[in-house]
Amino acid sequence: MNQVGKIEFRKINRISPSQFYSMKNCAYKSLLAEAFGKRPLLPVSPNAYFGTVLHKMLELISKGAVRNEDDFNRMFDEQVKTVEENLQKQECYFFIPLQKNVKDFGMKKILLKRHLRALSEHQPKNSSAKYNSEKWFESKDKLIAGKIDLVIEAADEVEIIDFKTGAITQELLDDAGETFSEVKEEYKEQLKLYAYLYFEETGSFPTSLSLVDLAKQKFAVSFSQAECKSIFDEAKRLLQTTNESISKGVFAANPTKANCKYCLYRPACGFFLKQLETDYSFNDVTGSVIDVVNYKSGTVSVFLENCNRRITITSFPSEVYDELNGRRGEQISIYNLRKEATEFVYSFTKTTKMFEHAG
Ligand code: SF4
Repeated sequence: MNQVGKIEFRKINRISPSQFYSMKNCAYKSLLAEAFGKRPLLPVSPNAYFGTVLHKMLELISKGAVRNEDDFNRMFDEQVKTVEENLQKQECYFFIPLQKNVKDFGMKKILLKRHLRALSEHQPKNSSAKYNSEKWFESKDKLIAGKIDLVIEAADEVEIIDFKTGAITQELLDDAGETFSEVKEEYKEQLKLYAYLYFEETGSFPTSLSLVDLAKQKFAVSFSQAECKSIFDEAKRLLQTTNESISKGVFAANPTKANCKYCLYRPACGFFLKQLETDYSFNDVTGSVIDVVNYKSGTVSVFLENCNRRITITSFPSEVYDELNGRRGEQISIYNLRKEATEFVYSFTKTTKMFEHAG
């Protein structure tokens, strides 16, 4: 059984453009991440780990470090190996090998290779253009900073490019109820913040902002200098108010489905725990242990009571029986379950984690 322990909040010294949108949606998540030294309390999905491999490869390709298919295959295998070694250290054996646990592993690798074939397209038409990949940019006060994937500087044009390994657009509804697709707001804001950081460092704004996905589709993000400045000011205000909440000892959070579903600090969030008492839309449960049954089949079921409601969780491995049986009457929370077709019935998955509540 895992424990959260006492949370020691720490001041956040700076935020990155990629972090800004998440912080805007729930600043408490950023505070928890800082308090836990950015070490998540729940396993990250294997797709996210694979995303880091894809992103690293895009960076190496754009730098020109991957020249041919042999380079590509060797470096790709090296990156996968590094991630798998890290997973081993974190005892996330169930994600290894990544190839078997990631959705569309082969397809994404093929898409990535196409970036390599298109390397010549990326090369500057104007030979004086400079390609800078993964370059660090920061504001003068160092409060906002981050690495930009690719900056292409030609004589009279500067383009900032950010690579994304997932979907760049989302479907929205217009006033007439028709669907249309648009670049996600978080990516637009991230790029505008990069544009402002570029301005802070160089004294001029880029001329274009672009997002490029694995399928090599390029999406332009329109912007104005005033917009970039306004998002930059907003980010600084957010950082300041978030840090003030530590000194005041008054915290606020935003426990919605969209925010919490992928938050890896849920076990430490009192706001989320409170939400779980009445909201059964998550794959997590909380309650007091009322019964534990060890079946002959070798699986264990645990029954929790939460606000007079009985919750059943099946398919635990038998090794957890003694641990759970010794917790009768105690409040626990269980995360990353599978929701079964029957209401209030869940089952164990390989990423399930149990946490006891602070006494
Ligand atoms: S669990 Fe939800 S409310 Fe709590 S910190 Fe995470 S995102 Fe915010």
